Amino acid sequence: MTTEPPVILWFRRDLRLADNPALEHAHATGRPILPVYVLDEATEGRPLGGASSWWLDKSLRALSRALAERGGRLVLRRGDAETELRRLIQETGADAVFLNRLFEPAAFARDADIAHALNADGVNVKGYNGALLCRPGSVRTGSGGPYKVFTPFFRALMASAEAPPHTLGPRQFQPVPNLESEDLDDWRLHPTLPDWSTGFDWTPGEDGAREALSRFTSGPLGDYARLRDIPGQNGTSRLSPHLHWGEISPWRAVTAARDAASRGKVSEAQAEKFIAEIGWREFSAHLLAEFPQITDTAFRPEYDTMPWRKDEGALEAWRRGRTGYPIVDAGMRQLWSTGWMHNRVRMIVASFLIKHLLIDWREGEAWFWDTLVDADQASNAQNWQWVAGSGADAAPYFRIFNPITQGQKFDEDGRYVRLWVPELARLGDRWLHAPWTAPPEVLRDAGVRLGHTYPRPIVEHDAARKRALDALKSIDKTK
Ligand code: FAD
Repeated sequence: MTTEPPVILWFRRDLRLADNPALEHAHATGRPILPVYVLDEATEGRPLGGASSWWLDKSLRALSRALAERGGRLVLRRGDAETELRRLIQETGADAVFLNRLFEPAAFARDADIAHALNADGVNVKGYNGALLCRPGSVRTGSGGPYKVFTPFFRALMASAEAPPHTLGPRQFQPVPNLESEDLDDWRLHPTLPDWSTGFDWTPGEDGAREALSRFTSGPLGDYARLRDIPGQNGTSRLSPHLHWGEISPWRAVTAARDAASRGKVSEAQAEKFIAEIGWREFSAHLLAEFPQITDTAFRPEYDTMPWRKDEGALEAWRRGRTGYPIVDAGMRQLWSTGWMHNRVRMIVASFLIKHLLIDWREGEAWFWDTLVDADQASNAQNWQWVAGSGADAAPYFRIFNPITQGQKFDEDGRYVRLWVPELARLGDRWLHAPWTAPPEVLRDAGVRLGHTYPRPIVEHDAARKRALDALKSIDKTK
């Protein structure tokens, strides 16, 4: 065994060996690498939601296996990150900690404090960007400020950012002393009593991420611009949780799309559409880094004077997928069953909560935070504020999604609603998205008893729309 002090590789949301800048740099030192994960929810900002905990559990197991296959070992610790890092430094004589940065403000500040404290004790802390195409703060307007509008931001990002070379990580890890490591089972990240995750059809980890990307680029990417709006089809990449947990680098997704286009497998336009969506992820992260308040305060302050309603019954009907609007209920049930919801439907259910029910977007954001496997502070807040009309580059508030016509347009053949709202499965396409309009004999033949087998609408669309527009008129535009 080598006597050289190891370099601590502090894994966080970069749970991969390929394209991992901190790992590459640690490897380049020629010293043994000590891979560590510290479960420290107290100082990183917001505690993990249930679905995120589920994912983390599996992703750490996958990373552990991948390291073991290369002779390494993932050390697991739980508690205050700085205390645990100091313990490891003491136990091993390590004098360097390498990490990929987290850009959420609370985590970023916590990391800066740790780096400062360890540096003062002679430990070299080195941080890299493995999470985003570009470090927040590096894409600026002509006058040096942050972009608040997506299109010019994305243009500037793409003009300045360059893909780093693809790397696979070290083939072999040098052994490091046998250190105490916690048992992942003891962390109880997987739900029990009840185990609500039985429908979670995901393969967390780097291999799962690579497979998702390859399935996508060799299939749906070719028709992405159309398919991405059809929730009944598997037409998007489903990379969001893999990207969130850093199981794949965003550059990998971008270069895979570009490669598919340059080999003539897909058109440039389809590849660009997909890359623009990765751009929205980037925009969200940069916005949050610049405007930390957007997780709980309206970006446009006047929207915080909206006369939100407190209606626990309606909120609960929304959460459980029992609003009486089939496309909304299908989305909320897909979320509960699988930990994910199609983007088009996320917009519909968010609009329904905010506008039809006039319930504060922060309630929806919190539910998504707990139930999404891709729950991400930046993307979640940015998108909720986009729908609420209060965001930086948001949809205007008065544009209110009609859940009936949205269903008819984007789930024309009813495949999505029939899958997630099986009690309506036998209702014909004509009535599926508005079952209360169906004649009694049609409902009877389809086995639907409104108010019994499926709820009646909890609000009436036209009245709810009017109430939402009146609320908009009442907000204080001088704020
Ligand atoms: P694809 O269509 O394959 O897109 C590729 C990647 O681009 C995604 O994996 C994602 O990283 C990124 N992306 C796509 N659309 C967006 C978008 N609108 N904003 C930011 N990034 C995007 N996404 C999250 O990752 N975490 C969240 O917590 C989250 N909350 C959302 C809340 C609401 C109310 C809405 C309307 C959207 C939210 N999104 C969130 C964005 C989007 O719905 C998901 O990223 C997308 O559905 C993931 O599926 P996919 O990987 O198949 O996407």
